[in-house]
Formats: sequence, C-alpha cells, structure tokens
Amino acid sequence: ESKAEGKATTRLFEPRMNIHLDARRNLEARLREALALGALSLNYQPLVSCDDRSAVCFEALLRWTDAELGSVSPVDFIPVAEQTGLIVPIGEFVLRQACMDAATWPEPIRVAVNLSAAQFGKQNIVKIVKAALQASGLSGTRLELEITESLLINNKDDVLRTLDELKMLGIRIAMDDFGTGYSSLSYLQSFNFNKIKIDRAFVSDLESNPENASIVQAVISMGKSLHMRVVAEGVETREQADILSNLQCDELQGYLISRPMPAAQVQEFLRSTAEADKPDEDLPSLA
Ligand code: C2E
Ligand code: MG
Ligand code: MG
Ligand code: MG
Repeated sequence: ESKAEGKATTRLFEPRMNIHLDARRNLEARLREALALGALSLNYQPLVSCDDRSAVCFEALLRWTDAELGSVSPVDFIPVAEQTGLIVPIGEFVLRQACMDAATWPEPIRVAVNLSAAQFGKQNIVKIVKAALQASGLSGTRLELEITESLLINNKDDVLRTLDELKMLGIRIAMDDFGTGYSSLSYLQSFNFNKIKIDRAFVSDLESNPENASIVQAVISMGKSLHMRVVAEGVETREQADILSNLQCDELQGYLISRPMPAAQVQEFLRSTAEADKPDEDLPSLA
C-alpha cells in the first residue's frame, strides 16, 4: 500500500534530512512492533578471568532481526529507542530475560546488562530491577549493570543515589566504554564502581601502539588502587591477550574468547571451556 509509495515520494520531493527522519520513524515503528511481537532477543558474550580464562560473567546484547530490514545493529536501533522512550520497555524486557536466563546458569556465573541513561528517568529503575530479580529468582550478587559516563552528565547526584540503592541489592556496577567519554576521572572519584571496562578503541591496536599500551597500563593500575576490577573489551588477538595478562588485567572480553552467542549455547560454552581447563588435559583454554 502506501509504504512503497511513501518512500518514493520522500526520495523525490523531500530534502535529505527528512529522508533520515522518515527512515528513523520507520525504524521506530518497526522496533515498537518487534518488542510487541517478541522479535527482540538476547545474545551473550563471555567475560573471562585473565588468570585461567574461565568465564565469570556473560554480557547480554540485544539482537533484532526485522523481516524487511534484516538484522539491525544495536548501534543503529538503541539510539532510536533512547530518543523515543522505547528504551524503557525494551530495557525492562532485557532485564527480565537476562535474569531469567542467568538463573539457569551454574553459580557463581553472573550476567551483565547494559543500561541507558533514559532508563534512569521518571520511572523507578530500582523497582524494575528488583522485579526482574524476584521473578527470576536470581540473586542480586549475580547481576552486573553496565553504565556509561554519559549517564552521569545530568542529575549526577540523583543517579549516584540510585546506583547506591542498586549496589545495596548486591548488584555490581560497571563503567562501560571507559576512556571514550570525557571527565572520566572525576566520575571515578565520585562513585565506587566495582568494575571498569576499557573501551576497545584502546585495545584494538595494543600490539602496535605503545601509547595505547601505556594508557591501558595506567588504567589497570588506577583500577587496582581504587579496588575496581578492570576488563579489556574487544580483545581479538592472542598477542593482545598476552599483553593484557602481563599488565595484570582482571578480565578479558572479545572475539578471541568468543563472539556473542544465543542463550541456548551458553551452557555448552561453559561445559567445553571447563573441559579444556581440566589439569590432566594439556589443552590451551582459548583453543
Ligand atoms: P557495549 O556494551 O560496549 O558492547 C560491546 C560491543 O562490542 C558489542 O556490540 C559486542 O558484540 C562488540 N564486541 C565484542 N567483542 C568484540 C571484538 O572483539 N571486536 C569487535 N569489533 N567488537 C566486539 P553490539 O552487540 O553490536 O552492541 C553495541 C552496543 O549497543 C553495546 O556496546 C551497547 O552500548 C548497546 N547495547 C547492546 N545491547 C543493549 C541493551 O540491551 N541495552 C542498552 N541500553 N544498550 C545495548
Ligand atoms: Mg556493555
Ligand atoms: Mg562496552
Ligand atoms: Mg563499546
């Protein structure tokens, strides 16, 4: 009907900016439908201990496959969800699903959930998190919440109070994409994060870029003195993993260890890595 027609009209008569607006509206409508129809799902990517490469946590990452658009990256649809407020019901779905999935995993494996600043608005995020824990039976000690520096730009005191409330449930708070925002150091000073995740921008050329290696080293030593666990994101090569081990990074995450996987594969991943770790078998745990 008017869908194809609308597109053609837009291309012929409207200025470029409106095409973008139109595409955004289309994305929003489809995303809303995807949420209602249950077409959003979660993949899980392991975070492993640097020492023995055993999984300590899995990060929940949203996946959306649209009939017409195909697979849409969260990099494209999360900003739309944030701008339209859709992130609130989507975020609630993510929390509930992630807690439910994690409740089936062996203890003490944790799950990490990304939170957007928009989820800290009028509705009570603490209540939503509590409800997700309660419905799943998952202990708060097995949940990590990943936030970014942008969350702390507005209403900093309110946000810090909310994060404290979440911490009192045993939940760990991680600073995601560390180093990409601005004023990161003052945020670290004002809140006791449990974990910082060094953005993959600093990890991707670790072998060839001595300046990034120095930055990573500095972040790790700062993390240690502030009693925070330090994770390196986006580890893709063995060389990067070796450098990070030598720098005594706490946890690694990245394609080298595993790509994000559907929930149904998590148990198998845990089984196969546990087998590779058996002392009588001399297998490298990253094979
Ligand atoms: P993030 O939280 O920093 O997640 C890490 C992203 O890096 C993921 O992309 C992951 O697939 C990707 N990645 C992991 N290891 C590697 C690697 O070795 N190399 C490279 N090149 N990439 C790697 P993804 O799944 O596309 O998600 C992108 C971003 O979308 C996330 O960044 C997060 O900010 C956001 N996002 C995803 N799911 C959710 C969600 O449920 N809620 C919210 N609010 N944001 C989400
Ligand atoms: Mg994250
Ligand atoms: Mg990240
Ligand atoms: Mg990132």
